[in-house]
Amino acid sequence: MKHEYILVVDFGGQYTQLIARCVREAGVYAQIIPCDMAFDCIDTENLKGFILSGGPDSVYDDTSMQITKDILTLQVPILGICYGMQLLAQLSGGEVTKAQVPEFGLTDIFFEQHPLFENMPQMKVWMNHNDRVCTLPATAKIIARTEDCEIAGFADETHKQYGVQFHPEVMHNVKEMKIFENFCRNLCGCTQFWDVEHLSGQLIEEIRQKAAGKKVLCALSGGVDSSVAAVLVHKAIGNDLHCVFVDHGLLRENEAQEVMDFYQQTVGMNITKINAKQRFLSKLMGVTEPEQKRKIIGEEFIRVFEEEAQKLKDIDYLVQGTIYPDVVESGQGKSAVIKSHHNVGGLPSNISFKGLIEPLRLLFKDEVRKLGSSIGIPDKLVWRQPFPGPGLAIRIMGEITEERLELVRRTDAILREEIAKAGLQRAIWQYFTVMTGVQTVGVMGDGRTYEYVIAIRAVTSDDAMTVEFAEIPFPILRKISSRMVNEVNGCSRVVYDITSKPPATIEWE
Ligand code: GLN
Repeated sequence: MKHEYILVVDFGGQYTQLIARCVREAGVYAQIIPCDMAFDCIDTENLKGFILSGGPDSVYDDTSMQITKDILTLQVPILGICYGMQLLAQLSGGEVTKAQVPEFGLTDIFFEQHPLFENMPQMKVWMNHNDRVCTLPATAKIIARTEDCEIAGFADETHKQYGVQFHPEVMHNVKEMKIFENFCRNLCGCTQFWDVEHLSGQLIEEIRQKAAGKKVLCALSGGVDSSVAAVLVHKAIGNDLHCVFVDHGLLRENEAQEVMDFYQQTVGMNITKINAKQRFLSKLMGVTEPEQKRKIIGEEFIRVFEEEAQKLKDIDYLVQGTIYPDVVESGQGKSAVIKSHHNVGGLPSNISFKGLIEPLRLLFKDEVRKLGSSIGIPDKLVWRQPFPGPGLAIRIMGEITEERLELVRRTDAILREEIAKAGLQRAIWQYFTVMTGVQTVGVMGDGRTYEYVIAIRAVTSDDAMTVEFAEIPFPILRKISSRMVNEVNGCSRVVYDITSKPPATIEWE
């Protein structure tokens, strides 16, 4: 039986994914669809509600993103957030105009008694809007106000439509923010509890149905995502799974060996290592543009797998560890293309497999980890810090050369060593060095130097959607910096990146 679920309709908001995260955290399955998805394509079986996301448009503009009115006929509750609320109001006969006073950031709000706000105190909420609902649909009433926004929330019980002008998803780690839980349980009537750990059986069964009796090739990177994907497929089809580990020469120190040891000895999988370093480096020679690097690496990956597939003969499917943020950030939703992930945007069109198996396509990172633990993957692997497919290539600003690779690899090893010594591996989500490509003047042994600046990037997060820079204690930073400058040729200055995401991303390219 299909699980109860909520559809999140994307109007290009920067936080649409967070909405889906919040709903899942409330124990209800959620999926994101683009706002122009055809009504016929919406699966209504066990669909319990819609949430309309925020977005950059103004609903009264002719070109603004819309949604088919047909969804209103489904009789399932709808919650609109910001743009979503404005659109919902307009669709049902209300009016939206430019606000006299736009609101941005944390703002005091007054909630009326309403099931949407059950167990929530009067609090500050996060605002981000220029427009406002000025006239409500006939059957709606106001359920929240701020000083500058008379209609900061509405409820239309007759049509089961609800709107909030603020962004509850942005406050996902504030425990008083219970709107998603309240919407799902009190207004949509969701009763089942969804949890990623219950998903493995279903995923394994789906893979079995798709790939039983076929040969499947898996692109194994050693990272959490591809490992969990591979183990799921291995459980489904055993030795029909052939794993290929491409050493593209862009890996961290000792990584290739560690990955091989783990899969061969601990997991006992079919795995071949391909040494493709020269091939990747020559393709990347002279390339400085980040998107181009990602595309080249993505394409070269696929070429290597295709060649391997031909050697193994009769390979039907390719397994990839694509996860939900990869899918959404690559612009398959409505939000702007931020980066093309090597395993999504970089996929060439002349791929010669029958298809892809991407069992984690709908999961967020922390869900992948939970799932990984639940199918017996050891902590060491499940808690490995994320490492991007294009590897060190996107941690070297500008051209990739052997010398620059060595610089980033050595400094990264020092950083990892010191973080481990300080026992901070779990506390920091991701930590690495960036070869900035910038040279600065220094003085060493009484002589002038003109060498590279290495940046340390370390962030805390729980889903990679939003991150804060990690507060590594200064004494540890001091030690790291002095080791890098002393031990690594070509590095004469170390800086620390103190930006969050948004506005920055975790990786520099
Ligand atoms: N563009 C709309 C406004 O300014 C909606 C903004 C949003 O959804 N964040 O009000």
